[in-house]
Amino acid sequence: MGLKSSEAVVIGGHNLGEADRIVVFYTRSYGKVRAVAAGARRIRSRFGGSLELFTHGCLVYFERSQSDLHRLNEFAIRQPFHALRSSLELLAAASEVAELAGVAGVEGEGSDELFALIVGTLGGLNTGKEFSLLLRAFEIRLLKILGYLPELYRCVKCRGTLPEGHQSFGLNEGGLLCPACRAEALESMAVSPAARQFLRIALGEMASDRFSPDAKLSDELRSLLQTFLEFKLGRRIRSARFLAGISGFFLDTSSPS
Ligand SMILES: [Zn+2]
Repeated sequence: MGLKSSEAVVIGGHNLGEADRIVVFYTRSYGKVRAVAAGARRIRSRFGGSLELFTHGCLVYFERSQSDLHRLNEFAIRQPFHALRSSLELLAAASEVAELAGVAGVEGEGSDELFALIVGTLGGLNTGKEFSLLLRAFEIRLLKILGYLPELYRCVKCRGTLPEGHQSFGLNEGGLLCPACRAEALESMAVSPAARQFLRIALGEMASDRFSPDAKLSDELRSLLQTFLEFKLGRRIRSARFLAGISGFFLDTSSPS
């Protein structure tokens, strides 16, 4: 019990009673934290607009030992990330980051690496840069942090050398497969040489915005990474599916008929 403080990002929340709100944070020091913001929905709330989704700030909360629902004392904004709430596509893209932060974040267990990835990705999205590559880089780095780093250099099963050209990715095996191992795999997905190159670049610290994929490659990367993430997490990424749906809708309406 007692006061705790940490750098944090708002990743969710819902209303409670007449005037309160439960806010979900991903914190650098304590992982996922849920706290009640008393009176947050009153006009003259002391929290003002600080509890908006995706806001990055400094959290102070009172930890309750009997419950995983704590009491919010203060949340001082560092970066409001306003732009993330300015368009439906950016909102959906940032929601994927928040949703995955909520799934990957363990209560009571912080991670500097995961926190930096979350804030860095939200910051990148907030600049209005093309968001699909930022999300793909987020997904592959998240897989690495969760201990599911895909093998991209040798056959994940027999450690043999991979042939040139198109590859197969085994979902159960968690990496690329040589033709012989591919024949025995239950589920595999095709990976183009360009997709493999992007994944290698995104895993390094090299800026992935040096990469400019066409729509086909973007789709391939999205499908591969999200299928593997959903397979590993054992659940659907709702916001990613929503984003894929609305992106297709925007593409359809802007193309000449
Ligand atoms: Zn093999």
